[in-house]
Amino acid sequence: MCGIVGYIGKNNCLPLLIEGLKRLEYRGYDSSGISCLHQGSISTFKKTGKIVNMEATVPKSLSATIGIGHTRWATHGGVTDENSHPHLSQNNKFAIVHNGIIENYKTLKTHLENDGYTFRSSTDSEVIAHLLEKNYTGDFEKSFHKTLSLLEGTYGIVALSLDNPDYLMIGRKGSPLVLGIGNDEMFVASDVSAFLGHTKQVVYLEDNEISKLSINNFKTTDFTLEEKKKEIATIDWDISELNKNNFEHYLLKEIYEQPESIRRAFAGRFMESIGTAKLGGLNMTPQELINIDRVGVIACGTSYHAGLVGSYVLEELARVPTAVHIASEIRYKNPIVDKNSVYFAVSQSGETIDTFLAMKEFQRKGSRVLGICNVVGSTIPRESNGGVYVHSGPEISVASTKAFTSQLTVFYLFSLLMGRMKDVSQQKGIELIQALKMIPEQIEEILKSTEKIQSIAKEYSKLDNFLFLGRGISYPVALEGALKLKEISYRHAEGIPAGEIKHGPIALIDKNTPVIFIVPKDHLQEKMISNIEEVKARGGRLLAICTPNNQRVKELVHDYIEIPECDPLLSPLLSIIPLQLLAYYVAKELGCDIDQPRNLAKSVTVE
Ligand code: GLU
Repeated sequence: MCGIVGYIGKNNCLPLLIEGLKRLEYRGYDSSGISCLHQGSISTFKKTGKIVNMEATVPKSLSATIGIGHTRWATHGGVTDENSHPHLSQNNKFAIVHNGIIENYKTLKTHLENDGYTFRSSTDSEVIAHLLEKNYTGDFEKSFHKTLSLLEGTYGIVALSLDNPDYLMIGRKGSPLVLGIGNDEMFVASDVSAFLGHTKQVVYLEDNEISKLSINNFKTTDFTLEEKKKEIATIDWDISELNKNNFEHYLLKEIYEQPESIRRAFAGRFMESIGTAKLGGLNMTPQELINIDRVGVIACGTSYHAGLVGSYVLEELARVPTAVHIASEIRYKNPIVDKNSVYFAVSQSGETIDTFLAMKEFQRKGSRVLGICNVVGSTIPRESNGGVYVHSGPEISVASTKAFTSQLTVFYLFSLLMGRMKDVSQQKGIELIQALKMIPEQIEEILKSTEKIQSIAKEYSKLDNFLFLGRGISYPVALEGALKLKEISYRHAEGIPAGEIKHGPIALIDKNTPVIFIVPKDHLQEKMISNIEEVKARGGRLLAICTPNNQRVKELVHDYIEIPECDPLLSPLLSIIPLQLLAYYVAKELGCDIDQPRNLAKSVTVE
């Protein structure tokens, strides 16, 4: 969500800041802006809408070597040019960009107004700029420290001072910031992709850290001014992974990458001869693993659905009771934690604030929390007690696809590991590994039906109020299929356990209601067929995701998309693929902004 970029160095910062902001575009935003030091003043350009709108207002001839940029995702104050960042202090000598929410901004604003400061925006963030001015007694670093000590809430902040042109001040609490160390240049951003084309040497700022950034060095302290030693890490993926290649949208590219991303998720993690998995990052001994009585999953959105699939698999293979919690709910519920539980915090970005804060609450209560994340070095993996990276590669489209199937793969691996410590035989373990290894090819098979899915989508795009029905392990797939459609096509959709329709939702069905049935070959297939009959008797436009030999289903429905047969536990990895493609083509048919759906942000870093 919302992005930050800052630069100090030997080059012109303007193209670098704009390029950086464009690299962060995928995270979702509603306005953008930049400030730079130029000829004795701070020049600022900001505009609502796409970055190109703002870029168009920047004179081509402008050149500066220190500057800051921002893409805003409004939380306080409407989407207007004035509310866009950067915000300037009253004397125009300080400029700031801020991600997050200043919770005590009202009190601070009242004090500042009483002191004679005039506000130009209705954001919470503007107080930071005025406080920098108010606390300034000739030492920018000190004023930055003092200002941050007055703020409550969450923030990633980058500040620029007119009278101190040789450094930037940055600070974080709850909102990511990472430094990029170049050659006679220094970058800061909320996400490495902003500067990956220029340097791969990075330093992650921790919560409650402040850094002073000059051209050739940086100094990091905590809030008590104690100096912190920071490690320089090297990013191991490449800028080319951020391109669309020949695909029209990132979303389609990422759907097509799933055979490969799933392979990456399990690569090197099987112990084939003994039919189990190894996950080094868990930091747990076999004794600790066998003592797990319960598993909890904390997540939001698509990751929550991955957790739900995980709960079926873990309970089935490892017989460990598994509860899945929506992070924003469990966090305020005073969660009951028992001592032999392990929790998984699942988040593509590793920055999802609700998941992170719920994780902290569980840790505070003494629990072990393991991360299942994609972005290496992000906050959740760093602050967790261990975990597993899903290694999907950068996921740019706001709606998640490949990260979901990779998260599932990690749940399969963990369940296999736990299962083999309990009741799963070596032979069954080996069979499961073989079945998992076949999944990428089976997905390639499904991708061959893209044209058929596209033509089905054309018809279904004329309809609204979709119901997605599944049973057992296909129920979370129904939820995820509905979420994909909502996110990118803005069509209303609901995922429902098929057995529940007669308890209410069946009242919604008339001849125009699109109903999508997820019917892999499993022990619930017959029950699904009864549900199809029930719905058919009441009208509805019926589409089934089913296996090739399922003649009965094919005869009952109007349309069907085939998925190969596989081990029933693994079916979500296959059945979700046509649903992702269906959502994609419906959205395309409706002319939606697929990679950046309205109102949505990639990583949700505000509560
Ligand atoms: N709360 C700030 C605002 O509404 C920052 C939002 C963001 O993180 O982009 O302007």
